[in-house]
Amino acid sequence: MSSKPMLVALTGGIGCGKTTVLNAFRSLGIPCFVADEVAGSYYNDPAFLEQVRTLLGPSVIALDGSANKQAIAAIVFNNPEALKQLNALIHPRVWQDFLSFANRHQSAPYVIFESAITYEYGFDRLVDKVICVYLEQEERLRRLELRDHSTREQLLSRMRNQLPAEEKMMRADYVILNYEGNPRQRQVRQVHQSLIRCTK
Ligand code: ADP
Repeated sequence: MSSKPMLVALTGGIGCGKTTVLNAFRSLGIPCFVADEVAGSYYNDPAFLEQVRTLLGPSVIALDGSANKQAIAAIVFNNPEALKQLNALIHPRVWQDFLSFANRHQSAPYVIFESAITYEYGFDRLVDKVICVYLEQEERLRRLELRDHSTREQLLSRMRNQLPAEEKMMRADYVILNYEGNPRQRQVRQVHQSLIRCTK
């Protein structure tokens, strides 16, 4: 593999345990980039917000000048074309920021790009390897009901917007099964060692 560090995506359905697994990679010293967090920070940038206003209209800016995330969500929820255009503003920028992040970690064997929508938006084609965290839907719902206090219907509608977890699992290079009691740390260590071997 020529690029140094190697680029690795970590994905999986909502509630499968991506954040938990990412923390296990962090504890091994691997630099981790959380795409959602970085994308969320763009809304603090007035120039970005202005682009969103041009795209979606004045209601996206609240009276205090900050982003009105509820208004943005309401517009794109009912308008797939607007969502596509908003994504076209966000995703290329996220990817460039990830490449800069990777550049800043030249001494790491690999860096991780965590995104639930790795496959949905084609980030899998830009990385060297994909890790999928898998957990069946019922257990994900149970954990999310506890974590987010969302209703089952709200969670199911979010899940329906993503590829089925089973498809992500089948397409990935590595799968981590995050069932309760499963030795997550051991699985992470095995994937880590295999990735290190790929870089040699
Ligand atoms: P994601 O980032 O994929 O949405 P999280 O890592 O936030 O998922 O995990 C969802 C919830 O499940 C969290 O409350 C987390 O603490 C819990 N969780 C994660 N892994 C396990 C596990 N192996 N056993 C029990 N609970 C877990």
